[in-house]
Amino acid sequence: MSKVAFIGLGNMGGGMAANLVNAGHEVAAFDLSEEALDRAKGNGCTIAKTAADAVKGADAVVTMLPAGKHVSSVYAESVIPHASKDAILIDCSTIDVATARQVAKDAEAAGLTMVDAPVSGGIAAADGGTLTFMVGGSADGFAKAQLILDPMGKAVIHAGDAGSGQAAKICNNMLLGATMVATCETFALAEALGLDLQTFYDISSQASGQSWSMTSYCPVPGVGPETPADHDYDGGFAAALMLKDLRLAMQAADNAEAYTPMGSAAEELYARFVDLGGERKDFSGIIKMIDDSWDDDQG
Ligand code: NAD
Repeated sequence: MSKVAFIGLGNMGGGMAANLVNAGHEVAAFDLSEEALDRAKGNGCTIAKTAADAVKGADAVVTMLPAGKHVSSVYAESVIPHASKDAILIDCSTIDVATARQVAKDAEAAGLTMVDAPVSGGIAAADGGTLTFMVGGSADGFAKAQLILDPMGKAVIHAGDAGSGQAAKICNNMLLGATMVATCETFALAEALGLDLQTFYDISSQASGQSWSMTSYCPVPGVGPETPADHDYDGGFAAALMLKDLRLAMQAADNAEAYTPMGSAAEELYARFVDLGGERKDFSGIIKMIDDSWDDDQG
């Protein structure tokens, strides 16, 4: 059993912290939101007055914050100055690669070990302890982090040095965004050509066009396994979060001078879908913008 400081107990962090408590860890929680803290208390966490109080004396610090600027300031002000030298620092937020590398460098300069460990899987996976963690950092940092991450996930994978977890996460989500858009426009074309969509699914899911976006997350209601498409695109992975990840991918591509035309097209399309009011809808709901039925539904 370890003493774990958990900072950021929102949609994702709330369930993750509860799973640490269930695994027998002593969890000191801090969030700016009273509501999040009340939920954490109900799940068996103790509540710290400040982030620094949670961090002092902890064996591990886990953060699950909205974006890079929050991670930078929480680590600079509350984590790095107050963490024990042998504590493992684990940032699970999805942030830009450059900030992840800078914060890890600052931690290392202070004699601390830090990893970036963003997740694949949404709120249900956070609650159910079935996230996939992609971890960037030293072998020693990975080994220490794995012990803390195990009860929150179904897989914990070492991606490489500091920042590699974030790099793997945004590369994966850029591929996901692009294949989802391609899947949506393919079904729209199949329909326009008079194909029965279930029949097209039966063919393409066993042919070379097959992808996860088609066979595990089909954007067409009633086709393939049950997905958010069968619930008017509610629940699932919000289009606003897909747009956030695509923007991070484009920022990283710019920095690395990589040519990513499909990722860039996906970013543009998700920005349009979010502008049209789709931000809270599952990201597969973009099919309604592509087949032109979105405006009709919005009245
Ligand atoms: P959220 O907004 O629900 O939670 C973030 C929490 O951080 C909030 O409770 C907020 O009050 C708290 N916070 C912000 N600044 C703080 C500070 N300075 N000190 C302490 N607490 C602070 O967001 P979420 O959906 O839980 O997502 C968290 C991260 O996980 C994001 O980076 C997101 O991209 C990533 N992610 C989310 C999902 C998802 O499905 N929601 C899936 C994968 C990854």
